[in-house]
Amino acid sequence: MSDGTATAAGVRTARELVGRSKDPVLNEDNPFEAMMARFDHAAELLDLDPGIYRVLREPEKQVIVAVPVRRDNDEIEVYTGYRVLHNTSRGPGKGGIRFDLNVTLDEVKALAAWMTWKCAVVNIPFGGAKGGVVCDPSAMSISELERVTRRYTASLIEIFGPESDIPAPDVNTNERVMAWIMDTYSMHKRHAVTGVVTGKPVEMGGSLGRREATGRGCMIVTREALKHLGLPLRGTKVAVQGFGNVGSVTAQLLEKEGLTIVGISDKSGAVYNPNGIYIDDAVKWVQAHRYLAGYPNAEPIKPDELLELTVDVLVPAAVENAITRRNAARIKARVICEGANGPTTPGADKILEEQGVFVIPDILANAGGVTVSYFEWVQDRAGYFWDEATVVDRLHGVLQRSFHDVLSVARRHQVNMRTAAYMLSVERVAAVHRLRGMYA
Ligand code: NAD
Repeated sequence: MSDGTATAAGVRTARELVGRSKDPVLNEDNPFEAMMARFDHAAELLDLDPGIYRVLREPEKQVIVAVPVRRDNDEIEVYTGYRVLHNTSRGPGKGGIRFDLNVTLDEVKALAAWMTWKCAVVNIPFGGAKGGVVCDPSAMSISELERVTRRYTASLIEIFGPESDIPAPDVNTNERVMAWIMDTYSMHKRHAVTGVVTGKPVEMGGSLGRREATGRGCMIVTREALKHLGLPLRGTKVAVQGFGNVGSVTAQLLEKEGLTIVGISDKSGAVYNPNGIYIDDAVKWVQAHRYLAGYPNAEPIKPDELLELTVDVLVPAAVENAITRRNAARIKARVICEGANGPTTPGADKILEEQGVFVIPDILANAGGVTVSYFEWVQDRAGYFWDEATVVDRLHGVLQRSFHDVLSVARRHQVNMRTAAYMLSVERVAAVHRLRGMYA
């Protein structure tokens, strides 16, 4: 594909472009830079056309809205809301909305791009988007939260839509918030539009199997990785960081496959039992006591020790930047399944690769969630709902195929799974740009 700017600037390949514009000192803890470092690397290896490289580096649309809300004490507060559409060449934007004091435009941009690559890696027809409101939901009443949600939605009414941009839950938002978004959008459209959000309650068009989808995806790709490496399932030892939705479901399903979960952790601390932790029992403990702290059937260990346990599989399913260049050399696991978004920094990637650790990257490992969100959107649009077995079966199909798609790119190009996942997804998005051509 020709690129006038590139010729004028004398730039011929993405390789040269990356070399020129890249910040010499990468701040590896910054999620935007971490994601861009991986994207740049994939673009270099693909020798991506510089014009397409420039297009994919910039979000298509960034919207900032003021969200005025009357507080319960009658005062008016004005919050800042963002929605970023990174790329919609393959389909409508897809991505969560977070309500948090730490939301920034840069973070939302990074997370939107992340969604573009994640949707492309599992080959579902969505682009990448993300949104957020800078607020502290823990200091708000339920009705204040509802007013923030409705006003934010109303301000973005031309952006959202089942054909254009479909939000989902993220940090501090949940199915209740999705129900308010759906209702606000539907009131403006004068009819019920269930397909405008995913992660809704099942009673109003949500999908069966959505709650377990991300953990189920982690289980499926871990199983495929063990098979690929010739390691058995039975007795294989696992440590899981984070015992929320993703971590606890992954642990439960891996246990069902015959693996032994020896270590788990949450915000309150970590626990270890070399003979295996019975996960249903730990889940019951957390349901009753909110946190793992005090769990009686395992011994407490330091949170950092959990990552360094002698296990076969490590599942970081809690926070960003859990594995960095500071602790990567002490990781003993043979397989890392990234349940969380961005748990490993680019600096750690290198060390893990040298140690021969097989890393299943976040954009593949935790894509089960967005895959079932896609199923939810399909069901809403068709007005025909699947039973749970169908959802589970189709999720298996998508993730098994995606794992092997990534693996074959890794083999063909002699790169690790993360680089392969980025190469596959960047090339899929780039291919659509080439086919569609440049409008006007
Ligand atoms: P969650 O809030 O249900 O659970 C988070 C868990 O991590 C909790 O148990 C919390 O106590 C624990 N935690 C927090 N800080 C910790 C720390 N420093 N050390 C150990 N544990 C800590 O959240 P979730 O939905 O399970 O999401 C977890 C991660 O997975 C996030 O990175 C999220 O972006 C990612 N993710 C989630 C989904 C999904 O469908 N829920 C999909 C894709 C990615």
